[in-house]
Amino acid sequence: MTDSQKPERRMRPCPICSKLSTPGNYPFCSDRCAKIDLNRWFTEGYTIPVVETDDIDESDLPGD
Ligand SMILES: [Zn+2]
Repeated sequence: MTDSQKPERRMRPCPICSKLSTPGNYPFCSDRCAKIDLNRWFTEGYTIPVVETDDIDESDLPGD
């Protein structure tokens, strides 16, 4: 766990541009970098195929 660090040590470099983060945009340095990171999450999320129940072939399911 890294949460045991002292509060004074909580300031971390922005994960996007490595500038010091600001309290208002923690852990990012700016709202812009926060949005960039959010966009990354969305982009990665879209690579995960969504399983739609309508696509399930019922003939593949074990019958009674
Ligand atoms: Zn930044």
